[in-house]
Amino acid sequence: MQNADCRVQNGEQTVAALAPCAPFNLQSAIHNLQFIVLLAAALLAASSRAEDKPAPPKFTKETLRGRVVFLAEALEKKYGVKSVTEAKQAALALQDDAGKLHPLVEDIRGRAFRVDKRLRDIQVELLVRRYVDSPAVQIIGVYELAKDGRFEIDYWCSVCAIAMYELKECECCQGEIELRKRKSP
Ligand SMILES: [Zn+2]
Repeated sequence: MQNADCRVQNGEQTVAALAPCAPFNLQSAIHNLQFIVLLAAALLAASSRAEDKPAPPKFTKETLRGRVVFLAEALEKKYGVKSVTEAKQAALALQDDAGKLHPLVEDIRGRAFRVDKRLRDIQVELLVRRYVDSPAVQIIGVYELAKDGRFEIDYWCSVCAIAMYELKECECCQGEIELRKRKSP
């Protein structure tokens, strides 16, 4: 009876419960061994789960306000640094309200500022990704900061009713598209 109680206790509880079960009981010992193996497996699983945790994001999101400029032209204006002629318009940057320059990745959203001068003439708010170890930021949202409010900016074909990120022929009908400004809270 006592042995049976011990076995139950050993099976469900802890290794420490082995002590009152002397003299040596093979079945209890096996139960305890099984328990230890299970415990070790559980600990191993827990530690590998900890290693599986997603890596920290490689970028942070930021909001920048200012004006988009050509980096070389801004450097010349700000510091008198002259770039070679062919590099004058090589890179775009957001010059924030404090004067700091943030180079822009020139993907489709970045190129929109090269293609359409109107976008360089306005005060903008850019939602950007700033990647770890990179000075260049990537645009993921464009807003105009006008006197009468904040407007989300993209391009629109009214024939096809589709939006695009840069000024070009419509991707669908090859017709003209227009700069669209939608009031944004
Ligand atoms: Zn179209």
